[in-house]
Amino acid sequence: MPIYNFQCDDCQAVFDLRATFQEKERGLSPVCPQCQGQHAHQPISAGWLLGGRSAANVASTPAWGCSPGGGCCG
Ligand SMILES: [Zn+2]
Repeated sequence: MPIYNFQCDDCQAVFDLRATFQEKERGLSPVCPQCQGQHAHQPISAGWLLGGRSAANVASTPAWGCSPGGGCCG
């Protein structure tokens, strides 16, 4: 079951919410565990940033020697 990261709009607390994709489709209604506020949004997950950084570095380095204008990059 995926874990969704939420940040409370009222007290800025960050918390996780486990929900199935079906629940996500129907719309999540996260409740802040700290202030019981029901106004939370999904911040950009630190996990996604950390996980994507190395992949982005790899992707930004052309391993096949392709140069702009060479015809292979469009
Ligand atoms: Zn809160």
